[in-house]
Amino acid sequence: MIAVLKPNATQQQIDSITAWLRSQGLDVHISTGTQHTVLGVIGDTRNVDTELLESLEVVERVTRITEPFKSANRKFHPDDTVVDVGGVKIGGGNFQFIAGPCSVETPEQIMTVAQRVKAAGATMLRGGAFKPRTSPYDFQGLKAHGIELLCEAKKATGMAIVTEIMSIDRLPLFADVDVIQVGARNMQNFELLRELGKTQKPILLKRGLANTLKELLMSAEYIMASGNSNVILCERGIRTFETSTRNTLDLSAVPMLHEMTHLPVVVDPSHGTGHASLVPAMALAATAAGADGLIIEVHNDPPHALCDGAQSLTPDQFDKLAADVRRIREVL
Ligand code: PEP
Ligand code: MN
Repeated sequence: MIAVLKPNATQQQIDSITAWLRSQGLDVHISTGTQHTVLGVIGDTRNVDTELLESLEVVERVTRITEPFKSANRKFHPDDTVVDVGGVKIGGGNFQFIAGPCSVETPEQIMTVAQRVKAAGATMLRGGAFKPRTSPYDFQGLKAHGIELLCEAKKATGMAIVTEIMSIDRLPLFADVDVIQVGARNMQNFELLRELGKTQKPILLKRGLANTLKELLMSAEYIMASGNSNVILCERGIRTFETSTRNTLDLSAVPMLHEMTHLPVVVDPSHGTGHASLVPAMALAATAAGADGLIIEVHNDPPHALCDGAQSLTPDQFDKLAADVRRIREVL
C-alpha cells in the first residue's frame, strides 16, 4: 500500500503517521521527494482502513497494491481451483451444465425436468425450494418438501443437486444438497457466508444486483476465511438503466474474474436476461468468454411455471443449447 502525503507535511506529522502504521505491525518505507513524501506500507495491509488513512489531514491519497482478498486472489494461488461436487468437477478446464426449474413445484415436474436435462448433458440439477421473491404474495417455494423432491430426483438420476439457502437456521435441511446456492440478494449476508464457510459444501455464490466484482470476491473471501474454499462464482446480471432485459449480463466479468481469482466462474443467462429467447445467444457468448459452466432455467411447461416462466427454456430448447455450447467448446 502506498500513501502519498500532502506537500506541506511536517516532520512531526510524518513521524506520527509512521508510528501509527508501525504500531499496527506494518513496515513503513519513507521516500522523500522534492514535493511529496511517499510512504510504502509493507506487510499484511488487509486490516488497514484505507478510507480512514485517507481522511487524515496529512494524507493526499492512498493506493492499494494488493487487493484485500487473499484466499480468492489469483496472485497468491496461480492455479485454477477445481471444485469437486461428488465426483463432478468444475473449473480448471472442466465445464458443467447446471439446469432445472426456477422452483421445485411438483414431484412430476422436477423428475421430468431432471431426466430431460440429464439426457442433454447436465450434471447438476437446480431447483429453488426457498425462493427469494420480491413480493411476499408470490409463490415462496415448497421449502423442506422441495428439498425432499430434489433428493428424490437425485436418487433417480444420480445428478448432483443445487438449491438456494436464505437463512442459516435451515442449514440442517441441506445435508443431502450437493451445492448450496447463495442468491444475489444474500451475496452480502456476511453472517450467512461465515456460517457456510464452516461447512465443506461447495457454495454457488451469485453476484449481487448492484455489486462490483471486488465485492463479490470479498464475499467469497468470507466463506474461504472461515475454512471452505469450495466456492463457485456466478455472474447473473446486474442492474443498470436498461429496461429491455431483466438485468444486464456482464460477460466481461468472466475474463475479468479469471484474472482476479482462481475460483471457477459460471454464468446464469436466465436471470441475466429474463427472456427465454435471449438465453441461447448469451449462453454461447458466456461459453466463448471462458465460463466454467452455465446455470440455466428449464421448465417442462414454462407458461404455467410458478416462477420465472418467461426466462425458462423448454427441455427441447435446452437440448439445442447444450449441443451448440459443446460446439463452441470444441472450437475453443
Ligand atoms: C435463482 O437462481 O433462482 C435466483 C433467485 O437467482 P438470483 O439470486 O441470481 O436472482
Ligand atoms: Mn429464477
